[in-house]
Amino acid sequence: MKYEAFLIKYGEIGLKGKNRYIFEDALIRQIRFALKGAGEFAVTKEQGRIYVDALSDYDYDEVVSALQRVFGIVGICPVIHCDDYSWDNLCRVVGDYIDEAYEDKHFTFKVEARRADKSYPKVSMEINADMGEYLLNRFPELSVDVHKPDVLLNIELRAKGHIYSKTIPGPGGMPVGTNGKAMLLLSGGIDSPVAGYMIAKRGVVIEATYFHAPPYTSERAKQKVVDLAKIVARYAGPIKLNIINFTDIQLAIYDKCPHEELTIIMRRYMMKIAERIALESKALGLITGESIGQVASQTMQSLAATNAVCTLPVYRPVIGFDKNDIIEISEKIGAFETSIQPFEDCCTIFVAKHPVTKPNIKAIERSERNLSEIIDGMIDEAVNTREVIICEP
Ligand code: ATP
Ligand code: MG
Repeated sequence: MKYEAFLIKYGEIGLKGKNRYIFEDALIRQIRFALKGAGEFAVTKEQGRIYVDALSDYDYDEVVSALQRVFGIVGICPVIHCDDYSWDNLCRVVGDYIDEAYEDKHFTFKVEARRADKSYPKVSMEINADMGEYLLNRFPELSVDVHKPDVLLNIELRAKGHIYSKTIPGPGGMPVGTNGKAMLLLSGGIDSPVAGYMIAKRGVVIEATYFHAPPYTSERAKQKVVDLAKIVARYAGPIKLNIINFTDIQLAIYDKCPHEELTIIMRRYMMKIAERIALESKALGLITGESIGQVASQTMQSLAATNAVCTLPVYRPVIGFDKNDIIEISEKIGAFETSIQPFEDCCTIFVAKHPVTKPNIKAIERSERNLSEIIDGMIDEAVNTREVIICEP
């Protein structure tokens, strides 16, 4: 079957007035972005609906999976067109559609017609009844159920006839661009790409920061983070990735602070630096992949200590997730295979044998005073010499 268009269904709860336009326009923008490279399409808004019309040949599976990555889409209905919808021809086209779309015809159905073309000789009720009768005659296995049909057959008569009856589920969520921007602390692990995906799903534009410690972390570790950003960008749209050279700061911490506090102090400087870039970029929050108790630096006390350096809200969407739950999402979004590539990240080299698990913020602040004369300059240097890569799928 060759579908000429897709009708896009989206959640409408709370969509009124100006919000509705913002939502729809962002959705259209994201649909166009997702379909880049999949063929030529016209994406239009008409009477509170969004249509994707194919203007060239396309691969059905590729287009459906691209649309399934667009947050805000609740359902995708493949549509066939009927240019000449004079009654007999309409019956033939609708019948052929049912014939091809449903191999097994043992199902119940209901016809739901809508006419934008008010000059049509039959009103909607007549179309429903007469088309139902035509289909029952042509396919005796079918039966009608007007209350709970297995198949709701939609026929819309506009400039063309539009026929559809199947709904492929979309990802839900809200279109990226409807809820501001946040800064993701993106490492090469499993958790942070999932965290970025989850916040993007709520309509938030994602920017990212990665802390790189050459030569202790390799170019391949950095490339892995770029690859992960590109994977998240398949859902979130282009991601601006800031790569911070963190080596000197890590060495200074190593040199001047108690080793059991290294991780926590390092995490605090990561948050501070990420927040600084976030504020420059007008991001409204930070995102991390932390989950309570997962490692020493993610106990409640450690989270409190890292959180204490931030003024922006820190969003931790996987905070209550078990590792397996996170892995499930990681696999679903296609990040897992990349995340588990064995390149060291910058934390592993400077880890103490016995890191504090219940850091005391006062004690940590005391240790950080050992850095007070050099750290501001080092942070400036790290921020000013950062590398920026725009990551697109
Ligand atoms: P992940 O799987 O996301 O790497 P993790 O289990 O390895 O997480 P940690 O290393 O404790 O956990 O990091 C916690 C969070 O801190 C990460 O989810 C990420 O948001 C951030 N983070 C850690 N290392 C880096 C880094 N090198 N660059 C940027 N952010 C980082
Ligand atoms: Mg990590």
